Amino acid sequence: MHYTPRPRNPRAPPLRINLLSDTQTKPTPAMREAMARAEVGDEQVGDDPCVNLLCERVADLLGKEAAVFMPSGTMCNVTATLVHCRPGDEILAHETAHIIAREGGAHAALGGFQITPLKGDHGRFTPETLRKALHPRTRYQPTQVLVSVEQTANIGGGTIWKKDTLDEIVSIAKSAGMATHMDGARLLNAQVATGISARELAAGWDSAWIDFSKGLGAPIGGAIAGTHTFIDEVWRWKQRLGGAMRQAGICAAACLYALDHHVDRLAEDHAHARALARGLAQISGIEVQEPETNLVFFKPDGAGVSGDKMVAVLAKRGVMLAMMDGRIRACTHLDVTGPMVEETVGHVREIVRGA
Ligand SMILES: *Cc1c(COP(=O)(O)O)cnc(C)c1O
Repeated sequence: MHYTPRPRNPRAPPLRINLLSDTQTKPTPAMREAMARAEVGDEQVGDDPCVNLLCERVADLLGKEAAVFMPSGTMCNVTATLVHCRPGDEILAHETAHIIAREGGAHAALGGFQITPLKGDHGRFTPETLRKALHPRTRYQPTQVLVSVEQTANIGGGTIWKKDTLDEIVSIAKSAGMATHMDGARLLNAQVATGISARELAAGWDSAWIDFSKGLGAPIGGAIAGTHTFIDEVWRWKQRLGGAMRQAGICAAACLYALDHHVDRLAEDHAHARALARGLAQISGIEVQEPETNLVFFKPDGAGVSGDKMVAVLAKRGVMLAMMDGRIRACTHLDVTGPMVEETVGHVREIVRGA
């Protein structure tokens, strides 16, 4: 959802290498089998065994009292702010945050909240920047009620917030009487890259969620966790927004399968991202941001090719990447292999040579 979807030219060569997004993964045969075998019930009334098991697993994984299954990560973010905030309230987030740029204005449209964009390198603001953005509670100013971070920071380059920084942000927010929310679309990538558990990374955060349809490779779903009281209120919004489901265990089974089989392997995606970045950095004129997880951002302008041109020529060769905020983003995932990474570097080298 981070690129402008364009229908592919039917005469274009087959799409061979898909580096567009980790949302593009297809369920594996084993995952489909787990889905086919799923024991299901009515999720909306709390009777779906797979969904219930998944919620217990996620609450435990994130060290929270309870969790709820959602059709998407976006609905995790939207229901969370709807519970944390009241109309007119202020949320603080990095200026590149998904909640600002990529959720269709949901937080303004549905909640009447204003989000103050904070600056900072690679998708992360510093505790100092947060401190400076705080203002006293007067009737003139919007009430600052929520601080939100993305772990990992998507547009920042898949960058990881350090545990110390996260703790400091929680403590600043607490002393200002604010709640804290962690958009953990790629939290498990941070866990695998740092060796620090998702539970520790999310410790102290009032709400946190993970996405199953990104690097974990499930077709649908996210799950948000917090206190029992918070999750009860999230459930009310999920119901209101039409996110309550029926035999959702079919999807939850894929998510359970992903938790069992697709977490540790995220290390492969990270290794592929590092290999891709190393290869690209050897091409003169290509500027690459050192990847911390599975996202590689680069600019070919120094080689005499614009990002748009590079993406268009690569697409003709069956290699799909996305332009994102002025840079090219390549995303490694379950369906990307080592040879595909090498081939991609080869294509970029040829395109630069021909420029
Ligand atoms: C993808 C993403 C989301 C939204 O998740 P969906 O499941 O696509 O709705 C939210 N935050 C970040 C950082 C993301 O990358």
